[in-house]
Amino acid sequence: MNLLNLTPEEAESVLSQWIVDRGEPNYRTRQVLPRLWQRPVATWHDTTDLPRPLIQALERDFPLQRPTLVSHQKSVDGTVKFLWKLDGDTAIESVLIPERSRTTLCVSSQAGCAYDCVFCATGAMGFQRHLQPWEITAQVRELTLDERYGTPTHVVFMGMGEPLHNWQAVDQALTILNHPSGMGIGARRITVSTIGIVPNLRRLAARPEQFRVAISLHAPSSQRRFKLMPVERKYPIADVLEAVQEIRKRVTFEYVMIKGMNDSDDDARDLAQIARATGALVNLLPLHPGGAGTLRPSSAERIKQFASLLQSNGAKVTVRRSRGLDISGACGQLRIDTPLGSDIEAK
Ligand code: SF4
Repeated sequence: MNLLNLTPEEAESVLSQWIVDRGEPNYRTRQVLPRLWQRPVATWHDTTDLPRPLIQALERDFPLQRPTLVSHQKSVDGTVKFLWKLDGDTAIESVLIPERSRTTLCVSSQAGCAYDCVFCATGAMGFQRHLQPWEITAQVRELTLDERYGTPTHVVFMGMGEPLHNWQAVDQALTILNHPSGMGIGARRITVSTIGIVPNLRRLAARPEQFRVAISLHAPSSQRRFKLMPVERKYPIADVLEAVQEIRKRVTFEYVMIKGMNDSDDDARDLAQIARATGALVNLLPLHPGGAGTLRPSSAERIKQFASLLQSNGAKVTVRRSRGLDISGACGQLRIDTPLGSDIEAK
């Protein structure tokens, strides 16, 4: 059994029963459980406070599954992109963004993506498969195990895939990331970014923890959004905005600036109206290379004007700095091009 695929409460219950069945003292559960997420070990052999027969039994019954780090690339701005190999030929990327006192890890929730947003390199890959909960949280756990990095202070679901398309696993991963017996990362430091899979957005809103939510909006009307995001057909913007009202914390609207597609004065005024009505913060970001070749980014000057127009129309706005562009690690750029064979050399 893979304990890392369970919630901390489930893992505790399985472990304590197993400990009892082996005739071990109950306190062994309190020694073993923290080695899953709180003070993780690479293998059970790395624990120093357990008797050897117990370590061997843990290795036999609950081997700790890990992804293989295939490569890590460092950007001139300090951003690091990791390429992980999972089972078979499946590979995913995650991106670590250091910034003053915080480090944010952008995690993947799927290999590839089914939604085909025109500006996104992951969408161009197509969908390969959903990640399991342990494959999502392992992206964090591996950094805790690596003394060069340590546990990130913040986690954002903005890597490969649409997290709410893989709700069951993401729901479970959120619990593992946040639970005090899991990784203990505060809910306000975990952001789920979604194009708005409405039923699962409602499920996320209904969770008691105050996870942050970012909505990939990218256009202020259904007609304009549909040209960029085919999901608009199934989950129109009006339904997404209705579901947003159920989220108790202020949401962010992500808005990638594309020349001539969504950056007109009318777009700014319409977007400001939506942001005012929902109390959302608008986060503008420049288009990065990687999606459809015909798209061009809005100029820096246009982004500035657009931001001022939003502000003068009563919306709160930030302009996001691009990070990791030189290693194709910026927003919308994650993509696996090379098929990974079994002879990959781990770094
Ligand atoms: S933006 Fe998100 S949902 Fe759209 S194709 Fe990229 S990964 Fe998928």
